[in-house]
Amino acid sequence: MSEFSHNYIFNKREMVERTDGDNLTEADIRQFQQIWQDAEHYTEAANGINVLGINEYRPLPDGYKWTTIRSRFAEMDDHQTYPIARAKALLEWRRDAHYCGRCGSQLVESKEFTAMDCPHCGNQIFPRINPCVIMLVSKGDQILLARHAQRNQDVYTCLAGFVEAGESIEHAVSREIMEETGIKVKNIKYFGSQSWPFPAQLMFGFTAEYESGSITPQPGEIADAQWFDRDHCPATPPKGSIAYKLIHNA
Ligand SMILES: [Zn+2]
Repeated sequence: MSEFSHNYIFNKREMVERTDGDNLTEADIRQFQQIWQDAEHYTEAANGINVLGINEYRPLPDGYKWTTIRSRFAEMDDHQTYPIARAKALLEWRRDAHYCGRCGSQLVESKEFTAMDCPHCGNQIFPRINPCVIMLVSKGDQILLARHAQRNQDVYTCLAGFVEAGESIEHAVSREIMEETGIKVKNIKYFGSQSWPFPAQLMFGFTAEYESGSITPQPGEIADAQWFDRDHCPATPPKGSIAYKLIHNA
C-alpha cells in the first residue's frame, strides 16, 4: 500500500505533471530524487504529503511537463487546492528551517508535530504563514485598481500588502490603502481568504468604500492608480487568484 496520497514536485511557481494525466506517484518522486540529488524533500504523514522541490526551472524527462500552480488553482475549489497549497507551503518553510534562529544549532524533525526541533535549546519552529491583506475599494460603480512599480507591471490589480507587527488586519487594510493611494476608506468588509504559498502568504480579502481623498500613488511602489468602471477594467490578474475574485465579484 502506498503511504502518500499527495505526491508533488515543485519549482518556484510550477508543478510537475504526468503527460498521461495521472497523478504523480511515490515512484515518480523517487525517480526525480535520483535525477535531482540536491532537491529539497519533505513528507507529512498526517496529510499524506510527499513533496520534492527545486528553486528554478529545469528540463524534464519524457512523460512529464511543468504547469503553473496558479493555473491549477484556477480550476479547483478550496478543498482541492488544500493539499497542493500545503505541500508547497511546507516545502518553502522546510527550505528555510535548517538551523535554529536562537542558538544556531542544526534542527531535527519533530517526532510529534509538523515542526523542526532544536536539540540544543528546545526551540520549536513551526511552518510560518505571513498574513497579507488585499482590498478592492469602490466608489459608486467604480473600483480602484493600481499598477505596481516593481512587480507585474503590465497588470492593474487590487491594492495589497503585508500585515505588520502589532496591527489588526483591519488596521492593515486602511493603512495600506492610505499609504499606496492617499485614499481614506470606510465600511471595510471581509470578503474571503486564500492560501498563497509563494512562498508563505495567507491572503485576507476585503472590500471597502471610498470616504475621502484624491489618488496620490506612493512613489516607488505604485506606478499608477485609477478609478475604473467595473465593466471596463484594463488587464487584470488571471483566474485563480483572490484578486480576480474581488475584481470580478466571482
Ligand atoms: Zn536552538
